[in-house]
Amino acid sequence: MENQPHIADSRDSGLVSIARLNRQRRSPFTADRFPEWMDRHHIRLLFVFAIMTMVTVFCLGWALYTIQQRLIQSSGHNLVQAATDAASKLDMMILARSGDIQLLSESPIAQGQNQETLAQYLRQLRHTYPAYRWIGVTDSQGRIVAATTPSSTSLDQSQRPWFQLARNLTGVRILSAQTSEESDVTSAITVIAPLHSPDGRFLGAIKAVVGIPSLITILDDTMQVLKDIEWTEESHLEYQLLNEHGDLLVDSALQQDGHLNLKQLGLSSAALVGIQARGFVEETHLRRGASVITAYAQLTIPHADPIQRWGILIRVDRDSILAPIRSFLWKLSYLSLLLLLPLVGLVLWMIKARHEEWRSAKRESQRAIDAESALTKRTEALHALVVATQTLSAQQDLDGLLEQLLNIARGITSARYAALAISSNDPRTPGEFFSTGVDDAAADAIRLLPLDLEARESLGRENGILSLNHLARHWASRGLPADHRPMTSYLGVSIRCHEQFFGRLSLANKMTPKGFAADFSELDEQIVLTLAAQAGTAIQNLQLLHDSKEQAKHDSLTELLNHSAILSALAQELSRAERSCQPVGVLIADLDHFKRVNDTYGHQVGDTVLREAAQRLRETARSYDHVGRAGGEEFLIVVPNCDLEALRECAERFRTAISDMPFDTPSGPLTITVSIGATVCSPEYPLSSELLRKMADYALYRVKNHGRNGVNIVPHPHALVVEQMKKTA
Ligand code: GH3
Ligand code: MG
Ligand code: MG
Repeated sequence: MENQPHIADSRDSGLVSIARLNRQRRSPFTADRFPEWMDRHHIRLLFVFAIMTMVTVFCLGWALYTIQQRLIQSSGHNLVQAATDAASKLDMMILARSGDIQLLSESPIAQGQNQETLAQYLRQLRHTYPAYRWIGVTDSQGRIVAATTPSSTSLDQSQRPWFQLARNLTGVRILSAQTSEESDVTSAITVIAPLHSPDGRFLGAIKAVVGIPSLITILDDTMQVLKDIEWTEESHLEYQLLNEHGDLLVDSALQQDGHLNLKQLGLSSAALVGIQARGFVEETHLRRGASVITAYAQLTIPHADPIQRWGILIRVDRDSILAPIRSFLWKLSYLSLLLLLPLVGLVLWMIKARHEEWRSAKRESQRAIDAESALTKRTEALHALVVATQTLSAQQDLDGLLEQLLNIARGITSARYAALAISSNDPRTPGEFFSTGVDDAAADAIRLLPLDLEARESLGRENGILSLNHLARHWASRGLPADHRPMTSYLGVSIRCHEQFFGRLSLANKMTPKGFAADFSELDEQIVLTLAAQAGTAIQNLQLLHDSKEQAKHDSLTELLNHSAILSALAQELSRAERSCQPVGVLIADLDHFKRVNDTYGHQVGDTVLREAAQRLRETARSYDHVGRAGGEEFLIVVPNCDLEALRECAERFRTAISDMPFDTPSGPLTITVSIGATVCSPEYPLSSELLRKMADYALYRVKNHGRNGVNIVPHPHALVVEQMKKTA
């Protein structure tokens, strides 16, 4: 898990607070916020509109369906009325025509068989009643004696069924309508009647073909009934007459050809007319397959023998009935469209204009928010930089400073990896490498990256910055482990302390809330450059501080530790020796007759001798020994981990280093000797530094007293105590 740096956290919380601010700015729904509201709720709006549209369409459909049904009902009733009307008219007409024939059969004209008179009478009858298509009278042998058409005269009808039937009749008989040879019309009924002499002798027969009038003729007066139907050719208003068996007698739309039984053909109305007196039914047209409304009415002809029950069917296409409402709907639709289209256009235009206005305002506001956010980011970055500068400059130790630098740089730029390659004074060695958030593979990658891309020059020797992006492919080819997160972005900057190149700070894989970014931002570059400059200054300050501290600890002439520094080194070694139970040797070396050197050769030569002596003592000492100038020509040497046996040898080494080789001075070679007094602080007898110095001093005193250029060791404080007792005595 990665530690989220504090700086990044504070920035995140800043963004959160901006987002919260934006939310608070949104006012509740008002007219001027309508576009925004619409934008946010457009799915819900669409849903509501869809539901409303569906409900409206359903209601309209239901209303339309109801209207249609009502229209069909009322038209059906009208048609039934018309059929009933037609039935009664037909009935009356048949009754009248059969009455005519009845009268004729009983009249002397027919019985007298005066051909001329009869023919004239028949023609007159036909003329008076145009329904008659043909009237003929036969003699008892079946030969036509008179007819409305002269060509029919003398034709033999004796073998015709009607004549055979008429022979046995007593009165008028109405036959089924059928094709009549005597007439050019097919829609006709036949009325036959026998001619009998007053004494009952069969004299012949009368046959009248009565054309069934067209529907228009029948319904001439009752057209009002069908006033709602547009009665045109296309309306397919049909009229059929059928007998009680369902045989088609008359069809207004069909040239009757042969025998058609409508019941057997499955026509519902044909079946129903035999059962019910009247009604209407919705059915499919037998020939055209169209949906039709058929009204039916029964026509009873009681004077026929036997009583005949015929059916009248009046049929209209369903579409014809609905045509008026449909045309009305079409007109209404056109009108609505004409009215609605401009209205909808206007509303849309208004919404669009309003929306555009709102969008541009929103864009502006977004721009302002972005600018504000960028400013906030910059301010936060600056703040972070200030904090970083304070943190870095407060650091007293270089390692701590570098660690802080890595953490700050990583936090401030939201980089996943941060590394710092420290420059080595030796160009052959790579220098130290610090990193944070980096695994080994990534560390290697970061270490190699600038070298690999020959960017070392720009990073190392120049005051430059290197920003690389879209590194994914590059790193894959570098042989990172397959499961390793790829490198995406890199930002490198050199850290310099004035003219001195200190090292290279590398940051990789910038993280954003949406994942890894392809590159670092310009702000990141600026921040990192500033941070690197601040780090450079901090490092330099630390170095200066370090130098001045070092300087304060050293003697300016000999560059050895000065009085206080060697005393604190002694105190440190003593406390360490106490902890580790190790002995510590303490030596005081004093140059012999140094005053003479000064007096004889001058101070300058004296200083040269002092420098040379210090140099020899330093070279003789081990790396962990401390050599300091206690004052004048006196040196204090602290030798850790040195027991009594080793101490003499050690002191001798220091003495011979000075005494055995003459000093090279401007006044020529000089032989200088040294006296060394020494003591040891063993773990069994821990002593204070003051006492140890006194013991060494005493030992030195003894050497000086015994002729100088020698070594004396006071191993125990007893000797000192004895000496002091002597003095006081
Ligand atoms: P002894 O053998 O008894 O130590 O005799 P000495 O002459 O060395 O001792 P003394 O203490 O009498 O003289 C020390 C002299 O060292 C006195 C002083 O002039 C000289 N001296 C002290 N500090 C310096 C210095 O920094 N440079 C020079 N050239 N001489 C110094
Ligand atoms: Mg001296
Ligand atoms: Mg001295």
